[in-house]
Amino acid sequence: MALDSLVSNFFWSNSDGSGKIHWAAWKNYRNLKTREVGTGHYIDVFKDPWVPAAKQFRIPVNNDISVNQDMVVADLVQERSWNLQPINRKIDKLYLDLISKIPLTSSPRADKLMWAPARDGTYSVKAGYRAKTSAIEGRTGVTRASPSKKVDTRIWRRCASNPVCPVCGDETESLEHLFLLCNWVKVAWFGYSMGIYISPRNIKNLGFWLEEFQLLNDSDFDYSKAYVASMLWAIWKLRCRMTFEQVEPSPSEAMEMTNRAMKEYWEVNSLFPKAPTFAEPEASYKWRKLQSHTLKLNCDDAFCKKNGKGGIGIVCRDSEGLFIKGWAEQVSAYSAFHTEMLAICKAVQLVEEWGMQSVIIEMDCQDLYKAVTQCSFRHCPWSLHGLLIEITDPVQNRSLVSFSLIPREGNSTADRLAALA
Ligand SMILES: [Zn+2]
Repeated sequence: MALDSLVSNFFWSNSDGSGKIHWAAWKNYRNLKTREVGTGHYIDVFKDPWVPAAKQFRIPVNNDISVNQDMVVADLVQERSWNLQPINRKIDKLYLDLISKIPLTSSPRADKLMWAPARDGTYSVKAGYRAKTSAIEGRTGVTRASPSKKVDTRIWRRCASNPVCPVCGDETESLEHLFLLCNWVKVAWFGYSMGIYISPRNIKNLGFWLEEFQLLNDSDFDYSKAYVASMLWAIWKLRCRMTFEQVEPSPSEAMEMTNRAMKEYWEVNSLFPKAPTFAEPEASYKWRKLQSHTLKLNCDDAFCKKNGKGGIGIVCRDSEGLFIKGWAEQVSAYSAFHTEMLAICKAVQLVEEWGMQSVIIEMDCQDLYKAVTQCSFRHCPWSLHGLLIEITDPVQNRSLVSFSLIPREGNSTADRLAALA
């Protein structure tokens, strides 16, 4: 069936024959490249993409304000901290805030090109697959250049000759109605394990909804993307079957098809995300009684996603477990992971400042633990690579400073401090 192959091409084009993913030309993804700030000498403030969390990683330039077109990021850095004075009145406060969160390290590396969709900034098959999924979901940047958009309108014209919804018959059928608001569709979204509740008041535009959905679910990035793409695909197919074969679609059918699509395209490609990792007691944790002169620094953080503010808490104990010193401060960050990293970074600084010799720095985030103990960028978002070096560099030459992963409950005092910060 021609329509069938059009639809499946749209979502899962496999024309290259090497698996289920068809690779769109690299140029379609160029908007996903960005720069990690190192020295900042080679990043143009207004022309280059470099601001994490900004749209296309760029600062939008207001036409009626003259900007120094040759300004580089290094011009905004003074003694390794941000001095945003030169652009203070020229750009939106939101962007000033985003920039001020970019970590600056004491010994910066060269500026580096990063592949933004990948957590670690490296382009890989998986990262490309994610970008492909993003393109399907109509995220900014990719979609405009993506060939799938053309297919999208082509199918649309073929099927949407009648403006009335073929399923409920009483609404004008917009994309929003088709995919989100028609009653049977609402049940399908809500009935699935993610329990997405769709309220008509909040939906003005399918693209915006998808974007927002992705922002709200960034912890389950791969899963929610695959799920949404699969559900959209199932809804589309069932809706078309109604148009051409007059077979009524049902929510449970949509859910089943979504399940199958998830299995087929994700498990087969072994891209299905593994169960979330929890901090497990490791060998280092079992060893509780410390040598008499060893101290423990217990780190934790609290992060509020809404305002991007966080707190970090560090507690120092002696070998008997007695409280010696504590530290708490407020920070601004992009994510909980970023906050946790700032906490570890502070702990490393405190080792120096408090003149400690033999120290174990404890944390409860497994990914961060792996990143610092293996000095591995793979476990760390690309925008924070500089910060990772800031943590691992000073420790590398000190055999008496080590890191340890502990279960969450072992961290309760630092938790409380972080929440108070
Ligand atoms: Zn309808």
